[in-house]
Amino acid sequence: MMNRENVLRELLAEYESQRALNRREELRRREEVARRSQAAGELIARREEIFYARMRAAFAQPREAQRLADGLQAELERINGALRAELVRLGLPEDYLQPVYRCPVCRDTGYVGEPVHEQCACLRQRMLQRLYREEGLAGLERENFAAYDAGVFPDEPLPGQEVTQRAYMERVRALCERYADEYPRAPERNLLFFGATGLGKTFLMNCIAQRVLERGMTVLRVTAYRLVEVMRAQRWDERSAQTAREMCACDLLALDDLGAEPMIENVTIEAVYHVLSERIAAERGFVVSTNLSLSELQAAYTERVSSRLLDTRRTRAIRFLGRDVRLAGGR
Ligand SMILES: [Zn+2]
Repeated sequence: MMNRENVLRELLAEYESQRALNRREELRRREEVARRSQAAGELIARREEIFYARMRAAFAQPREAQRLADGLQAELERINGALRAELVRLGLPEDYLQPVYRCPVCRDTGYVGEPVHEQCACLRQRMLQRLYREEGLAGLERENFAAYDAGVFPDEPLPGQEVTQRAYMERVRALCERYADEYPRAPERNLLFFGATGLGKTFLMNCIAQRVLERGMTVLRVTAYRLVEVMRAQRWDERSAQTAREMCACDLLALDDLGAEPMIENVTIEAVYHVLSERIAAERGFVVSTNLSLSELQAAYTERVSSRLLDTRRTRAIRFLGRDVRLAGGR
């Protein structure tokens, strides 16, 4: 069963083995350096001795302990300076013998902060990835900017325009990639993709999600159908309540297929409104895709929602147009 507690337990066990791997790597590097340079080997050995001497010094009388500690600290700094110089001479990075971490922020413990102990972003992201493996973030390893191929679109002018669909989609791709690279600093924090199905909206949304994830932020991807379902179920189901909170709190929300969810009175519009306005208030962005036109969107979601979705100060609306390419094997 995939619940939060199990996932967290599993992840913390992985962090523990990561720390063991780190220590093994540190040891390997020390041995490598000592093998290549006798001087460095001696410095490393002396550094070890100081480490233990400092521990013993802590048991001395308080005043004596301080004097010993100061002396050892001074010697340690001298040794570290000499070691760095020796590493550079060997053609190695200066910090080669520093502790090794995958995440320098939490030093692979998963937690940061004193006195308030909280989960590091790296742990929160891994939680999200694992929790939403099926519906949320699956497939991103395939749908990313590197795999995006505007060549699937016809190289024919769009109706009534000079530009071909292919060139147009290449431009849209460039714009989306810049958005993902700059997020959340882009002037317009949100994107709205609109246009008929089969024009690549979901694919590009996934590309953005993948890039923003890769940049270390938390991303949640849900369909509007799922959003409404979660918002309804959160009253009695703790897992849904958690997902509802994350839809508001993750760094970027990718909301797919707005307009395909059932329009339930007093539920659908309220649910969408709630999530979007929470995110706007907290200055967190979203990418929304819809098969509706802008006027259909306005008609279906009332002024309250559409004014938030279509606010041009915050949201850039991107129109997808041309021929459906899914039948030709693209998306
Ligand atoms: Zn971390």
